[in-house]
Amino acid sequence: MSPRGTSDSSCIFCKIIKREIPASIIEETPEMIAIRDINAQAPTHALIIPKDHIASIAEADDALELGKLFQKACDIARQERLVDGYRIVINTGDDGGQTVHHLHIHVLGGRRLHWPPG
Ligand code: AMP
Ligand code: ZN
Repeated sequence: MSPRGTSDSSCIFCKIIKREIPASIIEETPEMIAIRDINAQAPTHALIIPKDHIASIAEADDALELGKLFQKACDIARQERLVDGYRIVINTGDDGGQTVHHLHIHVLGGRRLHWPPG
């Protein structure tokens, strides 16, 4: 996930990264972009997206870069003042409910979340 320049021209997150479609951007670094989810499921619903097109966490092979993404997710939760807690989610594959096949971390917070998620 170090910037390898991998991109998929049909991928919605790659299009956001290349500014081909708009998004509400929270933060951007050379390695990742953090945006607000267009269909927010909580008062804060952020997506942390590596710039390299990696289909899912099952295909990720760089533990250091994965760790940085998690760290960024926690930084954003802090910035969003989710002091009562939050949830980090990575949907993976069809059974995991993944709909966009470009690795991303969801950060959800600002309300009491239920468990199990269903
Ligand atoms: P997942 O189901 O885990 O693959 O999550 C994909 C997420 O991307 C969903 O929560 C969608 O609401 C969100 N999403 C899809 N298109 C966009 C977009 N153009 N801008 C922001 N979020 C999006
Ligand atoms: Zn992509």
